[in-house]
Amino acid sequence: MARVEGEVVDEELDAEEEARRRLALAQIRQYPDVALKMAARPVDEFDDELRDLVERMKRLMRDAHGIGLAATQVGVLRRVFVFTPAKDVVAVVANPEIVERSEETEIVEEGCLSIQGVLVPIERPLRITLEGKDENGEDVRFELEDIYARAAQHEADHLDGVLIIDRTTREAQREALALLRPRTVIS
Ligand SMILES: [Zn+2]
Repeated sequence: MARVEGEVVDEELDAEEEARRRLALAQIRQYPDVALKMAARPVDEFDDELRDLVERMKRLMRDAHGIGLAATQVGVLRRVFVFTPAKDVVAVVANPEIVERSEETEIVEEGCLSIQGVLVPIERPLRITLEGKDENGEDVRFELEDIYARAAQHEADHLDGVLIIDRTTREAQREALALLRPRTVIS
């Protein structure tokens, strides 16, 4: 049974799926890559270049077994992400705006394809309304809840250079950074 952790799905993979996942992760920027801390610029051209980028992101998200991926995670500083708004559906949102947030919030352990091996608790609104454009420049609007609302908020954060370790409690942040530090030194 798969468990969704923010952007990451934790599930048993066979050897071939695992190899494909590793190849995808190798193409996704990993903490502490500077691109992850940068704010992305709005999308102003809905052209083939954008559609190619989005196709690549969808493929990487699927191969990495994620439920969301932002352009900043592939080193492109444009405000666009792909995510799963419902089971087995993949959507594109450019220039996303969260226009409504529920007062009700939930604290859930969240992971990130760019910060492997780290899970931290994050409080987020349980339901949101998300608006933006698709890859052809058409208006899109999503009423989201639960893990789907969480994934969209996680991706919107990426476009502002905000990571899960910036959103969590001070204690969880300290533990996560301690876990990440040795890796940083070695690489
Ligand atoms: Zn992430």
